[in-house]
Amino acid sequence: MNPGSKQRTLGRTLPGVATSDGAGVKLRRSIGSGQAARLDPFLMLDEFGTDNPGDYIAGFPPHPHRGFETVTYMIDGHMRHEDHLGNVGHLKSGGVQWMTAGRGVIHSEMPQQESGRMRGFQLWINLPAREKMKPASYRDIPATDLPEIALDHGGRLKLIAGQVTLPGGQVMEGAINSKPGTMVTDPLFLDLSLPSGTEQRLDVPRGHNAFVYAYEGSVSIDGKTLPSQHAGILNDGDFIRIRAGSENVRLVLIAGKPLGEPVVQYGPFVMNTREEIEQALEDYRRGRLTTVGA
Ligand code: MN
Repeated sequence: MNPGSKQRTLGRTLPGVATSDGAGVKLRRSIGSGQAARLDPFLMLDEFGTDNPGDYIAGFPPHPHRGFETVTYMIDGHMRHEDHLGNVGHLKSGGVQWMTAGRGVIHSEMPQQESGRMRGFQLWINLPAREKMKPASYRDIPATDLPEIALDHGGRLKLIAGQVTLPGGQVMEGAINSKPGTMVTDPLFLDLSLPSGTEQRLDVPRGHNAFVYAYEGSVSIDGKTLPSQHAGILNDGDFIRIRAGSENVRLVLIAGKPLGEPVVQYGPFVMNTREEIEQALEDYRRGRLTTVGA
């Protein structure tokens, strides 16, 4: 609560653009909807949300990744994850899967329901050059292990990654990266619900890139409206005040330390140079995406 601290204001907004991926899963892509729509270290944010099984049932059959991390936050629904090593995980309502693809993973992400609502997010976080070829790893965090608190105004805060200092000075630790400095990008990822007309202040470290995405309702940030299903990129500062509009709001706030490295992406491969992308493609063709350097 440094009196000299600066409030973050709302900068450019990126609408969630309707698209499809995998075997035809319908989703909205905001961050990553174009190369100019990245926000270092974030490469992509996809929101999937539908009651229509036809929009999700085909899922994401086996596909590769190299060079970054994927965070899947399942708000409603059930997906089964399986990788090239035979690791199997179930992602259920309110749960999170944090996958570090590193040098390579080949996996599938398939719905385990034939009806009902499927809703959530997948966030791609870049890895620094020196960690792009590290071994793949996963963390599955069921809803019951996700820290969540009730706020004074009736809202709720779930902390997927990072740390939040609550009014009164209490520090809340996320399910991932609870120790600062353990990840270069030091990500903050929270899900906040706010009753209509209420306001929440949250600290966001200065110098970290940050955005807000309201998936139900709209919010205002420093007097500027951020419509529903738009990524609102925040100007730099130390804290944000988010005010819910006339409806109850649910939103995610995501922040991280920029890497400042060149990004060369070819679909599911994100490296620093074209040569590294060509290597990834060749490794994938030769069936050694996941084993090179092992
Ligand atoms: Mn994937």
